[in-house]
Amino acid sequence: MCMKKELLKVKDLKQYFPIKGGMLGRTVNHVKAVDGVTFDVYEGETVSIVGESGCGKSTTGRAILRLDEPTSGEVVFDGDDLLSLNKAQMRKKRKDLQIIFQDPYASINPRHTVRQILDEALEIQNVVPKSQRNDKIRELMETVGLGPHQIDRFPHEFSGGQRQRIGIARALSVDPKLIICDEAVSALDVSIQAQVINLLKKLQREFKLTYLFISHDLGVVRHISDRVIVMYLGRIVEIGDKTSVFDNPQHPYTKALLSAIPVPEPGKKKERVILKGDVPSPINPPEGCRFHTRCPFATDLCTTDTPELKAEDYMKEGHLAACHYMDEIESGKHKPKY
Ligand code: SF4
Repeated sequence: MCMKKELLKVKDLKQYFPIKGGMLGRTVNHVKAVDGVTFDVYEGETVSIVGESGCGKSTTGRAILRLDEPTSGEVVFDGDDLLSLNKAQMRKKRKDLQIIFQDPYASINPRHTVRQILDEALEIQNVVPKSQRNDKIRELMETVGLGPHQIDRFPHEFSGGQRQRIGIARALSVDPKLIICDEAVSALDVSIQAQVINLLKKLQREFKLTYLFISHDLGVVRHISDRVIVMYLGRIVEIGDKTSVFDNPQHPYTKALLSAIPVPEPGKKKERVILKGDVPSPINPPEGCRFHTRCPFATDLCTTDTPELKAEDYMKEGHLAACHYMDEIESGKHKPKY
């Protein structure tokens, strides 16, 4: 049992986006981007959410922060029910909950210098008195590995990795408890990616930060995570500590995703599971197990009955997956059809 403090609790979170149609622009259907997601994040850990594009991972992050207003569910952060806060209360709470985007341009004013960008963040949340802001800005630059001579430069004068450091400095400026990293290193070259990940890890130790790390890159996720959540078509299909999920994946979707990661040892080969078809539309997701249209193990039961997240006896504590046939697949009794 984890003795750490639960910092974030997400319960049955749903994010449906309306589709308007007809002459009157009425809601004719919904994109079910996130459809009943439940998980916890403990203080000081890094929980990653992985899955293909369109699985709902980024939407989950945005819904937690209420950047898009969730359709329903519960988000409790540090004891407060975020979905019941009014706008002013939520604005105040955002000090503790920050986000770093893949493209820092999405959140910073490109016509502002780094000093102005950081000063604005410090002013909004009233973190330090005005007289101390310049010192704080210099300290933040140093913390993220940028020099004081770069303070009065504009974002376009920096490389991609340096811009991401500005994004990190901006998030750090308000002394947050949780940072949501939404594909934060995905656009960077591999060597720069490693530098930014190492910086994030260093800052986590230094400032006791908690990360919700959203990424499609399993190599990066393996490096940074304590626990991993795998999402498919708006739902969680597997969750567990990193070692359990990477070394003993239970859901056929997780197995397929992991089979695509190259093996680092020369001469060693891994059997690649090629999934047939594309991810179905989240407007009319498949009945039963949402993965059944692509799963090599699917049976008639899978087309009608939704599997719940559960653990089998042989699985480590906290490791859960949503498949009707986990133990039969594990023991080899249930064979793939292709
Ligand atoms: Fe595949 Fe059925 Fe398991 Fe879903 S429940 S992952 S379709 S075997």
